[in-house]
Amino acid sequence: MRTLIRNGTVVNAGGAVAADVLVDGETIAAVTAPGVFDTADEVIEAEGRYVLPGGIDAHTHMEMPFGGTSSADTFATGTTAAAWGGTTTIIDFAVQAKGTSLLSTLDKWHEKADDHCAVDYGFHMIVSDVNDQSLKEMESCIDAGVNSFKMFMAYPGVFYATDGEILRAMQKATETGSMIMMHAENGIAIDELVAQAIASGRTDPVEHGLTRPPELEGEATSRAIQLAKVTGAPLYIVHLSARHALEAVAAARNTGQNVFAETCPQYLYLSIEDLAKPDFEGSKYVASPPLRPRDHQADLWRGLRTNDLSVVSTDHCPFCFVDQKEMGRGDFSKIPNGMPGVEHRMDLLHQGVVAGEISLARWVEVCSATPARMFGLYPRKGVIAPGADADIVVYDPAAQQTLSVETHHMNVDYSAYEGMSITGRVETVLSRGSVVIAGGAFHGREGHGKFLSRDLSQYLV
Ligand SMILES: [Zn+2]
Repeated sequence: MRTLIRNGTVVNAGGAVAADVLVDGETIAAVTAPGVFDTADEVIEAEGRYVLPGGIDAHTHMEMPFGGTSSADTFATGTTAAAWGGTTTIIDFAVQAKGTSLLSTLDKWHEKADDHCAVDYGFHMIVSDVNDQSLKEMESCIDAGVNSFKMFMAYPGVFYATDGEILRAMQKATETGSMIMMHAENGIAIDELVAQAIASGRTDPVEHGLTRPPELEGEATSRAIQLAKVTGAPLYIVHLSARHALEAVAAARNTGQNVFAETCPQYLYLSIEDLAKPDFEGSKYVASPPLRPRDHQADLWRGLRTNDLSVVSTDHCPFCFVDQKEMGRGDFSKIPNGMPGVEHRMDLLHQGVVAGEISLARWVEVCSATPARMFGLYPRKGVIAPGADADIVVYDPAAQQTLSVETHHMNVDYSAYEGMSITGRVETVLSRGSVVIAGGAFHGREGHGKFLSRDLSQYLV
């Protein structure tokens, strides 16, 4: 089965060029000057369209247990929504529960995801119980294609790791060439502020933001960077939201340290004003780190331009407003932390291109090429080139759409971007050569997506 995508503008991280793309089976067979091939089993007309490597969302949480409930998208619904939005690979987090092993955790996540995903997927491992056995098991995880390990400086009593535990895991990462990913917020200090707020009757969702000040993200980010320096471990800061943290990352990168960071669309477009919406509406925007005052956004866009922020992922972790977010009425600390977004990342970052914040090529770089390299998937993923998987998005840069819960495909009862106008729209999506989105309809299937056993990060020398 050969598919020809013709007369489009192929956009890779290196730039844009008028070219045709010939797909043979599951991979790209050729990228040629327009008109070199004129027939195929199927022809997709892409005049006036961008032809992009499929998006890679390196930070999602499908059906993740949190605070007595579970995130609302299954691997089936979440990866289908991802496909609608031009994301053809997700890397989700397997979550070690305290007292359990990493390998049994990995088995459990394979059970949830295998034969259910509409697009390809990989895993990171959340290490919440550092001991001799789990440190040893990190090696087996690496052999099983899972070589990035997330730790938390937040959530004492749940995922929280002490500095000593982080140090030990980092030493193991150095020894094995694997990556430590860090949720960098000072959870010990935050929990005191949260308790003080509740005790004094400040219980609205906005308090979630006020009790997690940006200084405590900056402090934790700096501490993680110093621990990584002492141990020689590579470090990837997840969901960076605050200028204070960005400054710490930039300073470390300037010394040549292997420190990387991602941000998320919600930190580029939403703010603490959304958390302050009345009638408990603010709960829809509760995620950690919290949405920041609006003036952080310009710094984050600059960070994307200077590569101090090298990846945009979503931290997609949807909880419905009804029954789930509502668990925190009268006590913001009981609102499940997380927001939906896996479907909108490509569109939202395209708005950055439209607004002149980032270039066209940089859009593809932060949404596809860099996450592929960062997490050992390049050049199988993240590029339109011969030999790569035919994960391809045909994108209409002139189309207009309005984001809404009425039209999105995520399994959640609200949109964080309700009513937002977007210039550009995903038109056609191929996942390993199969058309999964076309003509405004889903043509994929549950179970098409395959598990990706990943190589070590390709940014480490
Ligand atoms: Zn997350």
